[in-house]
Amino acid sequence: MTFSVHGLAVSRGVAIGRAVLMASSRVDVAHYFIEPQQAEAEIERIRVGRNAVVDEIHRLQASIAQMGPKEAPHELTALLDVHLMLLQDEELISGVKHWITERSYNAEWALTTQLEVLSRQFDEMEDQYLRERKADLEQVAERILRYMKGVPSPVAPPPSKRKTQQDLLLDDSMDVPLVLLAHDLSPADMLQFKQSVFAGFVTDVGGRNSHTAIVARSMDIPAVVGARSASQLVRQDDWVIIDGDSGVMIVDPSPIILAEYGFKQRQGELERGRLQRLRHTPAITMDGQKVELLANIELPEDAPAALKAGAVGVGLFRSEFLFMGRRGDLPDEDEQYDAYVRAVKGMEGLPVTIRTIDVGADKPIDESVRDEAHLNPALGLRAIRWSLADPAMFLTQLRAILRAAAHGQVNMLIPMLAHASEIRQTISLIDYAKAELDNRGIPYGPVKLGAMIEIPAAALTLKIFLKYFDFLSLGTNDLIQYTLAIDRADESVAHLYDPLHPAVLRLVAETIAECNRQGKGVSVCGEMAGDTAMTRLLLGLGLRSFSMHPAQILAVKQEILRADAVRLAPWAAQVVDAEDPAALLSA
Ligand code: PEP
Ligand code: MG
Repeated sequence: MTFSVHGLAVSRGVAIGRAVLMASSRVDVAHYFIEPQQAEAEIERIRVGRNAVVDEIHRLQASIAQMGPKEAPHELTALLDVHLMLLQDEELISGVKHWITERSYNAEWALTTQLEVLSRQFDEMEDQYLRERKADLEQVAERILRYMKGVPSPVAPPPSKRKTQQDLLLDDSMDVPLVLLAHDLSPADMLQFKQSVFAGFVTDVGGRNSHTAIVARSMDIPAVVGARSASQLVRQDDWVIIDGDSGVMIVDPSPIILAEYGFKQRQGELERGRLQRLRHTPAITMDGQKVELLANIELPEDAPAALKAGAVGVGLFRSEFLFMGRRGDLPDEDEQYDAYVRAVKGMEGLPVTIRTIDVGADKPIDESVRDEAHLNPALGLRAIRWSLADPAMFLTQLRAILRAAAHGQVNMLIPMLAHASEIRQTISLIDYAKAELDNRGIPYGPVKLGAMIEIPAAALTLKIFLKYFDFLSLGTNDLIQYTLAIDRADESVAHLYDPLHPAVLRLVAETIAECNRQGKGVSVCGEMAGDTAMTRLLLGLGLRSFSMHPAQILAVKQEILRADAVRLAPWAAQVVDAEDPAALLSA
């Protein structure tokens, strides 16, 4: 039966494929594709894990047998029997084998997928006792996963060796497009999927500008977030359509709907093909104003996509992605230096703006250390606050960036500043890092220093910022969140997350105007910069530097080529002053 689920549109386009449900496990599980010749070894890992847990339960049973009835109640013995029975259930193991051999999932992913399938079967059981056994099944699967976590995978390939979309398309068993459905995906999960086969994503939670949504956009594949219970309503392997333009997922579509979306998909591809022609066209408005279009990247490997889209530099390298999902093993100075140099070289002489680490809130450094201890992590120890709280870690990053600057034009960008004291502390740490490099005789290059304006307090004290910094960059994603008190990752308040709120527009307009007055560089690197509905307004407010995901650059360029910036200025001033700016924008 066809039905649709509505969520938030975060990344444009249409994807049609079979659903892959990513189970939410309490154990942090790696998801990657294996080579066919690794399948046997993966199945063996599951067998070893299962046997270890069976032995563990046998040992427990033996120790219980030596206890008296008081310390070892009958229920406990019965429960362990149930666990043994579940562990030996053929459906569990044969299902896991299926996901490993037919879909090339790694062992842990195959186990959680089969767990999801069996859990659904338990949910549908009439008998309440049997229904409740689902919790036992989850417990045994978790025991296996925990065991496997302590035993490293012999086959886990390094990220660079993971299969690319092209490899998998050549593989007969994988010729059906796959779309991923999950309750939630962390930015680190998304990063892992960056080179994977998925043609689209849907998550139950998340806001339009959550970091997960941002990474989906950077992958330029259709995605919908905040789709509430989507992952509960869809079964493994169901056919689904993801419409990333309108934020809808259609499950089990009829042939007519499939044909309609197939047409829409081809139209989208044609439009992208047409935009490619603008790649080498300079971004100049009709009245001759030159505009700089820069790329936002998450990893050095994104540099070629930035060049291909015609970016004239990187306006935001979110360096924190180098630090995520490493289970506490943070990159040292040389590893960071190497990554920054790769980004600099990858950009072939164009400038690269490296933002210092911005973790916390919806970007946990590690899934297992998600900040649940604090009530408001978005207002807590994140970004520069985190760096200043751990000077040794921060100095390591500063030295790595300074050293990379010896290889090309590097700018350093500091996130989430609000206080003059934070600015002064940051600058003295940069000076200290330079002195350390001098003492060790290690070469480094000059960097221009920039601050992100993403807290209203910063936008309201621009004079202080302009005294210390060479340029400013408006982080509108956070600026909206903090101005309107709306969690950017919370779908239940997503309708109030409004880039066109007059208060937000005023802060943006005044920051651009003040920088222009003082002759300091200013750009927007939040998602606003890549939204074509905002291009004319930002041009009218005097913005001449936009930084966005490479996938959006050509569409924004097209808007710029059609705009008359001088004539837009009075209209933009009216929009900022209006009670309902959205109405004027669309008029
Ligand atoms: C922003 O806040 O607008 C920004 C660019 O930073 P991030 O999205 O990484 O928080
Ligand atoms: Mg930010």
